[in-house]
Amino acid sequence: MTRRLEGKPVAEAMDAETRAAIARAGPGASPPSLVSVHRDTDSPFRFYLRRQGKGAAAVGVRFREEPLVPTDGPPELLERLRRLDADPDVHAILLEHPLPAPFDFYAAISAVRPEKDVDGVGPANLGRLVAQRPVHVPAVALAAVAVARHYEAPIEGEPVAVVGRSETVGLPLALLLSSRAPGMNASVTLAHSRVHDLAKVLRNARTIFSCVGRPNLLNRTNVPEGAYLIDVGTSTVPDPTKTSGSRSVGDADAAALDGWAAGLSPVPGGVGPVTVSELMASTVRAWRLGSEGGAA
Ligand code: NAP
Repeated sequence: MTRRLEGKPVAEAMDAETRAAIARAGPGASPPSLVSVHRDTDSPFRFYLRRQGKGAAAVGVRFREEPLVPTDGPPELLERLRRLDADPDVHAILLEHPLPAPFDFYAAISAVRPEKDVDGVGPANLGRLVAQRPVHVPAVALAAVAVARHYEAPIEGEPVAVVGRSETVGLPLALLLSSRAPGMNASVTLAHSRVHDLAKVLRNARTIFSCVGRPNLLNRTNVPEGAYLIDVGTSTVPDPTKTSGSRSVGDADAAALDGWAAGLSPVPGGVGPVTVSELMASTVRAWRLGSEGGAA
């Protein structure tokens, strides 16, 4: 029997903690605020934006969008981020990524101090993760780990694999899993598109985190029997049975892995909802750091 590793109970528990943390500040306190800066275009980020708005409302975080206008280029983006970074009433800033040329995501996010770079994707935050002193860690990496830990998938001291090495998802997740933090300490193998034989690389893994965006990449040919699979990948495939004509799927061939894997997080409904809850929890951390005068 393959366990279905649903994100809902993980997200609900996390949201309850976030609400309680905000309530503890008392009725007179100004609640945490999160600002999402994005190109105003139809991109996958738009879907994430809707979830951010709903997630913020559910826990009591003040949320607003700052869309760029079509004539805004890198200088205007930089100016916008500097203004938000200097605004004491803005505690957390999220910048859409990836950003197409001529924008340079890393040049832009570097204008945001690590305490406000709430998704932990700027060079300063990634460097702090390497140095075992994280301020913010990407919400998706925290969410993948939270789902795995909730269902007691083997991590600590165990062989674990991460498939995908992007700077915003796979790589920070691999760094988090191999960090010395309690519950982490995994022995991590990092796989990517240039790996010759994925099955060979995954052979010893007890838990696999897949962060690729390729439907059916993981199946019985490369996932060891009895492994846990945390599916971070999200792709859209045509589905004429849906009103929208499409549906979301993960990297796993869920039907093939049923009865083979020990546990599998579904897409949708697995890591996705927890990512929003982690983002709100990080916003509360940014709010506290703001009132304490910054990170050590
Ligand atoms: P990305 O930048 O496109 O990176 C994809 C990674 O997968 C790359 O490292 C790539 O390797 C690797 N890869 C591609 N084909 C492969 C193959 N055949 N075998 C092994 N590795 C392969 O994507 P991303 O931004 O990291 O996002 C990854 C996935 O996570 C996407 O589906 C995205 O939608 C999803 N996501 C989900 C959430 C959530 O909350 N659930 C949040 C963010 C992202 P190379 O480095 O060699 O090119």
